[in-house]
Amino acid sequence: MAAPRVAILTVSDTAALDPAADRSGPAIQALVTQHGYICTHLTLSLTGDVDWIVTTGGTGFGLRDRTPEAIRPLLEREAPGIVHLMLNASMQATPLGALSRPVAGTIKNTLVSTLPGSVKAVQENITALLQAGVVEHAIELVRGGRGEHVHARLAAEGPRSFGHHHHHHHDHDREHRAPVTRSTLSQDPSLPAHARLRESPYPIVSISDALVTVLREIRPLPVFEERVTSKLRGYVLAEDIFAPQNVPITHSTNVDGYALRSTDPPGIYTVLTPHSHLISTPLPPGHIFRVNTGGPIPAGADTVIMVEDTRLRATHRIGPAPEEVEEAQVETLVQVPPGENGDLVLERGTVVQAAGGEIGSLAFVGRTTVRAFKRPVVALLSTGGELLDVQAPTPLPGDGWGGIWDTNRPSLQAAIEGYGYEVVDLGIVPDNVPAHVAALRRGLAEADLILTTGGTSMGVGDLLKPVIEHHLGGTVHFGRVRVKPGKPTTFATIPTPGGQADSVPLFALPGNPASALVTFHIFVVPALRRLGGWTSAKCRLPSVRVQIQESMKLDSRPEYHRAIIVATPEGFKAHSTGGQRSSRVASLKGANGFVALPPRGEKGPAKLEVGDFVEAIIIGELHMG
Ligand code: AMP
Ligand code: MG
Repeated sequence: MAAPRVAILTVSDTAALDPAADRSGPAIQALVTQHGYICTHLTLSLTGDVDWIVTTGGTGFGLRDRTPEAIRPLLEREAPGIVHLMLNASMQATPLGALSRPVAGTIKNTLVSTLPGSVKAVQENITALLQAGVVEHAIELVRGGRGEHVHARLAAEGPRSFGHHHHHHHDHDREHRAPVTRSTLSQDPSLPAHARLRESPYPIVSISDALVTVLREIRPLPVFEERVTSKLRGYVLAEDIFAPQNVPITHSTNVDGYALRSTDPPGIYTVLTPHSHLISTPLPPGHIFRVNTGGPIPAGADTVIMVEDTRLRATHRIGPAPEEVEEAQVETLVQVPPGENGDLVLERGTVVQAAGGEIGSLAFVGRTTVRAFKRPVVALLSTGGELLDVQAPTPLPGDGWGGIWDTNRPSLQAAIEGYGYEVVDLGIVPDNVPAHVAALRRGLAEADLILTTGGTSMGVGDLLKPVIEHHLGGTVHFGRVRVKPGKPTTFATIPTPGGQADSVPLFALPGNPASALVTFHIFVVPALRRLGGWTSAKCRLPSVRVQIQESMKLDSRPEYHRAIIVATPEGFKAHSTGGQRSSRVASLKGANGFVALPPRGEKGPAKLEVGDFVEAIIIGELHMG
């Protein structure tokens, strides 16, 4: 384990006035430094810079002793055992130790303990905390480890020093993991390879739990006024759209009414018609506009008066024929309240589809602009020093090894743009922390969602989770999913104070090309839709019942088997794309769906047979088979 970093905070009226008067702080420093710990200055940033914060002073019964009251509300998890240990140490020296009121616990992945103020008490407490690896073990666990390091060392020292901890369940429970309340679990990339975690500390979640988490964490982006043109396709409406008021047809005339302002009082108005006035031009004061049932009303008008509530006052001739007489002036007999809205034409939350119906409806009711949710922009990057850009290959340094073509960026960019979202291409990011931090910061500034591939498994170069948690203050909501392919799929949110949204979602997808594309469709598409204002219930890609045309092996995990799904008169049929290794890109070629294979049951069949029916998710266009 890398040397723990300790921050010491002295709480003392005396020392505050004269730092030289602080003797307890230096005493703690001396003791922990002897123990191989590194002391840093306390910055109170609590973002993973320090492993242990030790305060000294302010824990007694004096009226000005308020350290526990100040610290306790900051603790995310309390550690009463550590409090016991400290009290025990103090009381062994003197019963007056009972008047010490220490607190201890964790804040993110930092351990916090409040020590008494006297040098003697500090020495007793620190010695007790360091003995038998208590703090060392705590720090290792809080950093996201499983405690093997301390267990191994203590076991080697023999059973006496380890006591009952010997039967601690960590040793036996392979699925053991840190409590989920802990906010950071990633490993420390600065540790040497041999000291890093061998197994992911992240709990493995089900596909449906993962999707619920994604849709819970993500809120739609802000709303803007958009022009009603063909470019509106893909947007989601953020307002209800009503038809102009429906006016009952009268027998006396085929004129249904006049559009006007609800503020227009009864009186004589000049009549405008589609021949004399453009509906895009605001209705001039003193004028009303003749409308037919369901027809468009001009800008500025917000209501319609029925013809029965008006009286014709003057006409004028518009041609030589006897019928070429037009209304010139009409008297309104009542004032009409605003917007007795007509039929609801389109509901808030409606997706403007490429099939054209929504844009047509908007145009039909005369809408020139409409309020719609912003469509997300995606920052896309690939991680991995072995990757080469197909469009701009640069020779890799070193032994002449050719590297791997970056497959994920082009394929994901195509998929994202295919769904109608814009991509900011952040390129290939090498496997080091500063490059990751710089690329992700750019993504946070320029996009509404960040999408990365690679670097999510437990290999030495895997940096995503630690960078998210330790460098960007992000929260990893899940770091593993029970799905094949795609187990290391990671979803996080990164706070962006002062940004357009409070936080930006990030998906770190596995590096294998098939895994990346499968997990994109399953997890990222719903996230993009939610950002773009889709109602949660509709965000997932649709699934249909298909009949499989080849037998398909079942795995212990639920599996998405890439398939070509065709529509036939007998229903949908699914043809496998062949070998399903996650590195086999060809398993996606031609695939327009994923057959959702259930996990293999303990006594259940090992495969599904030709002709079996199963659900499949549709990711592309359906064609006739
Ligand atoms: P990683 O999670 O970074 O260890 O990646 C897992 C595997 O996927 C490795 O064999 C990588 O070389 C490969 N891989 C990662 N990213 C890409 C990519 N963008 N294109 C093609 N292969 C990749
Ligand atoms: Mg990699």
